Amino acid sequence: MTKVGFIGLGTMGAPMAHVLRGVGFDVTGMDISAEIRAGFDGAVEPSENAVAQADVIVTMLPEGKHVAQVHDALVRKAARADALLIDCSTIDVDTARDLAAKAAAQGLAMLDAPVSGGPAGAAEGTLSFMVGGSDDAVARAQFVLAAMGSRITHFGGPGAGQAAKASHNMICGITAMAVMEGFALADALGLDLDKFYALCAGAAAQSWTLENRCPIPGVVADAPASNNFDPGFAVRLMAKDLRLAQAAAASSGQSTPFGAEAAIAFTDFAETSGDRDFSAFYTTLRALPAQTQD
Ligand code: NAD
Repeated sequence: MTKVGFIGLGTMGAPMAHVLRGVGFDVTGMDISAEIRAGFDGAVEPSENAVAQADVIVTMLPEGKHVAQVHDALVRKAARADALLIDCSTIDVDTARDLAAKAAAQGLAMLDAPVSGGPAGAAEGTLSFMVGGSDDAVARAQFVLAAMGSRITHFGGPGAGQAAKASHNMICGITAMAVMEGFALADALGLDLDKFYALCAGAAAQSWTLENRCPIPGVVADAPASNNFDPGFAVRLMAKDLRLAQAAAASSGQSTPFGAEAAIAFTDFAETSGDRDFSAFYTTLRALPAQTQD
């Protein structure tokens, strides 16, 4: 039976680890938080002994600095030479490349495999994985990723999975701004917003964000706007992903002005409303004073 060491049992990691256990993997969950460990059957504090037992070591941690700390202080010290490292966290491209290079220098295979699909996709085993790493490592990881997800796309070498995630999420952030701004204008012009939604959903303005995050309460019954803006996808996570896209833009030399605007707007909004759904920004946007044109 394949032994999986799963480090990071939070909102995403716990359901992913449960799915792996449910299909027969021998999973040892690890987390720095005693409270989180208590909520997961058989979880242990991250330790060299627990890491050394694993054939596959999955990390699902908040940010690049946490993944780097866990890899530097624990994983590369304790992992067996034939272990496979899979980082599913959403982190910056440069850290992903750096950690893969350090692992390779020790003969360890490492993939970056960030996900989209959220806690529901994690619980159902239907996540989308965006993967960076060698062909050989991807082939070795296939059965683990396929257990947790329904779509696995290999984008290229180390960091390519994070590059795809950053680029994809920047589109989502900019689209969110466009949807909210369009509804703000329609409302300011006195349109019936149910009719406006129906128009957009069947016309060129249609998008996932429109259909799932329409910001007007009551227009889409199961959108966060109709449920007190409970997430959904929290503003702080949207802001984090947009900042990662800006870091990727800076290190690749690509100008992304709309992504930069969205990153600033969501980062500012996260200071007061970080745990609400990102579509809650609509209320702030709608109240902004109009800019005068020269
Ligand atoms: P979370 O904060 O709920 O969970 C992170 C877990 O890591 C916590 O339990 C924390 O105690 C643990 N942790 C932190 N430092 C640690 C360390 N040094 N050693 C061991 N454990 C440590 O975060 P999450 O929502 O599960 O997100 C995890 C990653 O997935 C993030 O990178 C996030 O951007 C990404 N992601 C989240 C979502 C979502 O909807 N929540 C969707 C897609 C991707």
